Amino acid sequence: MQGDDRPPSAPKRILIVEDNALNMKLLRDVLQAYGYRTITTGQGGAAVALACDHHPDLILMDLQLPDISGLDAVRQLKDHPRTRAIPVVAVTAFGMIGDERKALAGGCDGYVTKPIMLREFLELVERFVGSAGGLR
Ligand code: MN
Repeated sequence: MQGDDRPPSAPKRILIVEDNALNMKLLRDVLQAYGYRTITTGQGGAAVALACDHHPDLILMDLQLPDISGLDAVRQLKDHPRTRAIPVVAVTAFGMIGDERKALAGGCDGYVTKPIMLREFLELVERFVGSAGGLR
C-alpha cells in the first residue's frame, strides 16, 4: 500500500485481527521478535478504520470473530479504496474443511492454518511484505 512516505527500510507493519487472546499473543510476540511492528484488534469491524490510520503492509485476519465474520471484514477492506491494496492473509482453524477455499474466494491473498507453524508462518509473511526492516 502506498499512501504514506515511509522509507523502504522502515519496519513493516502488520495488522492482526484475532479475538483469541492466546493466538493473538503468539502472533504478536513472534512478529515483534522478528522486527515487525504490530497493530492489534479483536474486532473485525475495526479493521478498516485501523488500516486507514496505520497503513499496515499486511493484515492477518482470523475468520471467526465475535462481531462480524472475518470474510465480511475482508469484504469491507477490499471495498475500501484506501485499504483494498493491502494483502490479507486469513488465519483459519485446523480442520475447518473448505475454509482455505472460502478465504481465497472471499478476497484473501493467502491463508495460514492454526496451530501456527512458525517457520512456515514467517516465510508466508516475508513473501507478502519482505523481511521486517528492523532488527532480526
Ligand atoms: Mn476467532
